[in-house]
Amino acid sequence: MEGNSESIRRGWVMEHRRKEAKKLATEIFDTIMDAEERAGVAAERASKKRKEIERDIRNEHDAENRRLKERLRFSVAELNSEKELEAYRDFVKRHEPCRMGLRINGGKIPYVMQYGTGIGIATTVVCQVCGAKEDITDSSVW
Ligand SMILES: [Zn+2]
Repeated sequence: MEGNSESIRRGWVMEHRRKEAKKLATEIFDTIMDAEERAGVAAERASKKRKEIERDIRNEHDAENRRLKERLRFSVAELNSEKELEAYRDFVKRHEPCRMGLRINGGKIPYVMQYGTGIGIATTVVCQVCGAKEDITDSSVW
C-alpha cells in the first residue's frame, strides 16, 4: 500500500512538471514570436524612414539645382555650372581689350554658343572681335 501511494505521488509530480515545462515552452515561443513581430515592425518603420530621408535629400538636391540654374540664367546664359560661369567671366576679362577697341557698351561680346551633345550641353564662348573661341564645357555636371 505504501509503495503504491508513493508511485502515484511520483506520477503526479511528473505530470505537474510536464505541464510546467509545456507552459514554459509556450511562453518562450510566444516571446520569440512577439520579438520577431516587433523586429519586423521596427524594420519596416526604419525602411520607411530611410525612404523619407532619401526623398528629402533628392528634393533638396533638385531645389539646389533649380536655384543654381536660375542664378546662372540671369547671370549670362543657361550655363551648366558655377565652373562654366567662372570660365566665362575669365574669358570676358581676357577679351576686355577687344571690347574696349570697339567702344561698345553692353552687348554680347563675347557671347556664348551652346549645343546639345546627347549626353549634355556643350558650351563655347566666342569673342566676336578677335574671333577667339574657347570650349568652357563643364562635363562633370552631365
Ligand atoms: Zn577677343
